[in-house]
Amino acid sequence: MKYIELPRKVLVGDGALAKIPDVLKDLKLSGKSVLAADIVTERIAGERIAGMLASEVFIVSGSGMPDVDRLAGESVGCGFIVACGGGAVNDVAKLASFRNGIPYINVPTSASHDGIASPQASLKGEKPVSVRAQCPLGVVADTALIKKSPARLTSSGCADAISNYTAVLDWKLAHNEKGEYYGDYAAALSEMSARIVMDNAGKIKSNVSILVEALISSGVAIGIAGSSRPCSGSEHAFSHALDLICENPALHGEQCGVGAIMMAYLQKSDWQAVKKSLEWCGAPTNAEQMGISRRDVIRALSTAHKVRDRYTILRDGISRSKAEEIAEKTGVI
Ligand SMILES: [Zn+2]
Repeated sequence: MKYIELPRKVLVGDGALAKIPDVLKDLKLSGKSVLAADIVTERIAGERIAGMLASEVFIVSGSGMPDVDRLAGESVGCGFIVACGGGAVNDVAKLASFRNGIPYINVPTSASHDGIASPQASLKGEKPVSVRAQCPLGVVADTALIKKSPARLTSSGCADAISNYTAVLDWKLAHNEKGEYYGDYAAALSEMSARIVMDNAGKIKSNVSILVEALISSGVAIGIAGSSRPCSGSEHAFSHALDLICENPALHGEQCGVGAIMMAYLQKSDWQAVKKSLEWCGAPTNAEQMGISRRDVIRALSTAHKVRDRYTILRDGISRSKAEEIAEKTGVI
């Protein structure tokens, strides 16, 4: 038996922010609410939304359990939570609302990751973990607002979508070699999101809705599969390993994109196409551009298989010399 969870209303477009009260009315949400934002997103959109809904404002400072605990405490007795921000705000709101058994509405201020519509939340801690929570009941993605977000966030979102390419190949491999459940529909949807971003990489800056839709579709693929499998394979393991090793890691999507170049090479698939499309959308394609040392890339590559219990092209792990060879051949170091 499989439980599929998807958002009920998704509104994407320029000026969508003004329609939030209508979306809430459609979803029959009313009463007291808390708006979660960080100090930047509160100023650029949160304040305005909180004014429209008469919500109490909660400032998220990180993406760890203390924030989730505090927000869950603040929202006791509320009808819903509104998340206004990027990955950390979304994850904290997703987990706190799930814990309180209330819905949440996601208003992304950037398109930097595929957690916008997915039921999975990432938590930073000693080990980064992806836990099942709930997907937003509604998503309001104002493309005029997202267009104004830093270019680096948008290219990181492109790279996260492109990395679905290697994640799906890893999923197929786990199915063939380990008999793991594989869903054709979720895999095809995830692969299509990567393909559309790869084919339109040059146009995304001027037409950000291509990317927003691809990231929402990735979240839907995760909802259908019931796990992050269709969008998270060895390239995500590499990114999680970097988060553990580096003092100053790059953005999630940036690391996943560079990981996807190397994993595509290992998978004997078209790593050059992955690299080209990352270049087109302005995402980093090597260690230097990510601000990460050669040593850390090799360490992350040779330890990524231990980050989580998920079968990928890394199988039981690769040696340091093999890691060095892969990173050099693909121009990452
Ligand atoms: Zn990701």
